[in-house]
Amino acid sequence: MKQNLHVAIIGGGAAGFFSALSAKSHFPAAEVTIYEKSAKVLAKVKVSGGGRCNVTHACFENRALSKFYPRGENQLRKAFEIFNAQSTVDWFAERNVPLVTLPDNCIFPKSDDSQTIIDCFENEARKLGVQVKIQSPLADITRLHHGTFSMKSGEKTIFADKIIIATGGTPKRSGLDWLENLGCKIVDPLPSLFTFNMPNEPIKSLMGIVVENAVVKVESTKLLAQGPLLITHWGMSGPAILKLSAWGARILAEKAYNFAILVNWLGEVKEDQLRKDFEQTIALHGAKMIGNLNPFVFPNRLWNYLLEKSGINPELRWKEIGKKNANKLINTLLNDRYEVSGKTTFKEEFVTAGGVALDQIDFKTMEHREVKGLHFAGEILDIDGVTGGFNFQGAWTTGWIAGKSIGNLE
Ligand SMILES: Cc1cc2nc3c(=O)[nH]c(=O)nc-3n(C[C@H](O)[C@H](O)[C@H](O)COP(=O)(O)OP(=O)(O)OC[C@H]3O[C@@H](n4cnc5c(N)ncnc54)[C@H](O)[C@@H]3O)c2cc1C
Repeated sequence: MKQNLHVAIIGGGAAGFFSALSAKSHFPAAEVTIYEKSAKVLAKVKVSGGGRCNVTHACFENRALSKFYPRGENQLRKAFEIFNAQSTVDWFAERNVPLVTLPDNCIFPKSDDSQTIIDCFENEARKLGVQVKIQSPLADITRLHHGTFSMKSGEKTIFADKIIIATGGTPKRSGLDWLENLGCKIVDPLPSLFTFNMPNEPIKSLMGIVVENAVVKVESTKLLAQGPLLITHWGMSGPAILKLSAWGARILAEKAYNFAILVNWLGEVKEDQLRKDFEQTIALHGAKMIGNLNPFVFPNRLWNYLLEKSGINPELRWKEIGKKNANKLINTLLNDRYEVSGKTTFKEEFVTAGGVALDQIDFKTMEHREVKGLHFAGEILDIDGVTGGFNFQGAWTTGWIAGKSIGNLE
């Protein structure tokens, strides 16, 4: 390592802090400084997971873990060989931060308070001697002819041997122009993780209903997601919808968020199985009114809504259903169509798809392949995950690798 190596980390969020801790623990003699433009570091960590911070996900197989990233899967699969979800769990355990795994495999601090994570990072930074400068936006980064960098922070000019850019996601393309000037290729940024607005769909009156296992498709595309679906007062949300919003971030943006979805309320059940279920219901409960005998696990309110949508009188007896009604009901249960018009942020949580193109980055070091000395970590990269702790895991993994490689001699 070069003597008096000065490392500038731009951005004091999850990825910036983790990069700094990694850099300083791997290269204690380096001078590592985090420059944060706002008055507060780790602001998103504070509000994350509803103030509880979903730090990672209990998925300890790298290939399986990488599948949760609509963008970045291949690159992260390799990066997880260096730092994965188990590494995150171990890192916090080594610093006496107890974590708990919830039944859905999301991992949170046992304190149920994101401040625990912030305190841990700030204590580590103090212990290691990482410098943190708040209200220090960095701009005008220039690579000098001998390979080091100069930057502007207000009136001041700062010099650094190595830089880690960890400025997070930005929804505006213009917010990334400065990176293009540095020689980075940019993938247009777009929002990911949002819920669907359905202003003209009466199903909104069933807000609060959750169907535990639905399959949702976007009409005329290959987009499909499975999982719990929540009916809200503006449309639909829940894991199935959020997954669809992440995997479909680009396609749905191209459609200006106007598209139709097809819901299978019964998950993976197919038409022939459903016909057999109907026959069985008729055989066992033929005399009962359809509206009073819902053979499925979802709530009766939804059952009656779907009957009405199929034009079936709920007072009809099961044995009187007839072929035409049965076909209509089967179609509604398996292929229920809704018009989506617009999107809403999910519990304030969102991530940005797009950013610095991944083919330019060496994921063994997080360094730009051409602009040597320039490393990247976190959401500024064209990486994003679905909800469940994956976005922070992406920040820890890329931050760890960037920090670990910062003292490498060229
Ligand atoms: C409400 C909410 C809840 C979330 N909850 C979760 C969760 O529970 N689990 C999960 O995995 N993910 C969650 N996410 C996503 C997660 O927070 C982000 O993916 C993660 O914070 C990205 O980290 P980052 O360090 O790359 O970016 P950020 O956390 O956005 O940090 C970037 C930092 O850089 C600073 N900065 C920008 N430009 C400059 C500049 N020029 N000079 C200096 N500083 C600059 C910014 O002020 C900011 O502090 C949530 C997101 C939101 C919005």
